[in-house]
Amino acid sequence: MTTDKRRQGNQANPGKNTATAFTRRRLIAGAGALAAASMLPASLKAQTRRTEAEVIVIGGGIAGSSTAFHLAEQGHDVILLERGEIASEASGQNMGGVGGNGWGNNPDLLSYLTAGGVEIYKRMQLDLGYDMEFRLSGTMTAIATEAEYEFQQDRVAALQAGGYDVHLLSTREARAIEPEANPDLLGFVHSPQRGQADPVKSTRAFAHAAEMAGAAIQTGENVVSIDPQSNGYAIRTDNSEYRCQTLVLATGAWCGPVGNLLGINIPIVPVRGQMWATESLPMRVFNTIGSSESSYDWSIDNGSDAVTPPNCTHKNGRRTTRHLYGRQRKNGEIIFGGDRESLGYISGTDPDGIAVNRGHAAEVIPLVASLPIARTWSGLMPFALDGSPIIGKIPLRDNLYIVSGLASSGFGRGPMAGKLVADYIHSGHRPGVLAESDPARCVTEA
Ligand SMILES: Cc1cc2nc3c(=O)[nH]c(=O)nc-3n(C[C@H](O)[C@H](O)[C@H](O)COP(=O)(O)OP(=O)(O)OC[C@H]3O[C@@H](n4cnc5c(N)ncnc54)[C@H](O)[C@@H]3O)c2cc1C
Repeated sequence: MTTDKRRQGNQANPGKNTATAFTRRRLIAGAGALAAASMLPASLKAQTRRTEAEVIVIGGGIAGSSTAFHLAEQGHDVILLERGEIASEASGQNMGGVGGNGWGNNPDLLSYLTAGGVEIYKRMQLDLGYDMEFRLSGTMTAIATEAEYEFQQDRVAALQAGGYDVHLLSTREARAIEPEANPDLLGFVHSPQRGQADPVKSTRAFAHAAEMAGAAIQTGENVVSIDPQSNGYAIRTDNSEYRCQTLVLATGAWCGPVGNLLGINIPIVPVRGQMWATESLPMRVFNTIGSSESSYDWSIDNGSDAVTPPNCTHKNGRRTTRHLYGRQRKNGEIIFGGDRESLGYISGTDPDGIAVNRGHAAEVIPLVASLPIARTWSGLMPFALDGSPIIGKIPLRDNLYIVSGLASSGFGRGPMAGKLVADYIHSGHRPGVLAESDPARCVTEA
């Protein structure tokens, strides 16, 4: 069957797919017992390299891997091209926090990406059998000052009025759930619908599920040119040439340079995040942990300008606030991070920033003050200059889609972002919630 026919079949009757798609679905359903992430190869190199597909997805992070999975599951013929390995950039380097405050009474894009994302994590681990170390741990966000307390009181009341699941706790109540929390703090915001998962295992699980559904996952393929043709795109990598009818850009912090290959300007900039870990110790920290300092500061001034995205911790080389997130991994390491610095494509860690973050973490979980740092790492996050995700169709070129701008929350939000863009391509209609992330608002001719 040609890819054209397959697509027509799906659009005419999306609930009843072709025989090929049906076989693929059965494969996925049967994948459960075999799918433990420990069995996944570090490198998902296809046995036979394919060069033509109905849809090509560029980028093997969580956004691209989820897009490829949800497209392949719906019967589309997909190749995913990744220049490194699956999860070799931000999707493999993040803290592992997922979820939000639930669906609320009137779900918007944020509810879909967060609460919907949690549903996808549950499906992958509980129904398809991937060990992603996912658990709905909840998040405890510390409140240190009177001003932060008033800010969080108003915020929690507004969220509760919208039907969201979030609660203001006294420090005593919080310490009954998270015993290592600092008793001297003023209180905590408890978000029970937030959770955690292992970044590398999770991202590889989506790529593996895509492969099980029939997609070709081709790593070590660095895209160096993209030429629009009369019926799709010709894409060149360092190794080979590819063709497709529909192209999806899921290149994270590199959407700018990849957009330039198409002569378009995608206003996404790289923002460095950095993290540190203790040695492994028995479980002491149960929730993911945060602090109110940055959200309070950003509520007064989010620091954005024409070249700086909102909600960074630094501006013009100077710290403007302290941001904090962390958790204890299943292997026992306690990990924390939080800095968000717009430095171009500079990666590597800054010891001063790590020291500030460690001090901040110790104010919330005093135990960490006595634990030496065992390792540090960093990654580049895709921040849109206007602060909102960029998910949908780019109208400047034919059959061109993007799933990015997920900033500091793309590990939790990438799975649903990928599903929404896959649904858009599959049905030919934009899911209503993607009106908020329309690329037409900001993607321009270069
Ligand atoms: C330290 C840190 C902590 C974080 N903590 C959290 C957290 O707790 N929770 C959360 O939700 N999010 C968190 N994030 C953010 C999250 O990691 C990102 O938003 C998310 O991973 C972005 O996913 P992505 O697929 O869009 O991009 P990426 O993971 O960067 O994937 C893009 C891929 O495209 C590939 N690529 C680029 N150019 C090309 C090319 N020319 N050819 C082929 N391939 C190409 C890259 O190699 C890369 O693998 C954190 C990030 C960092 C750095």
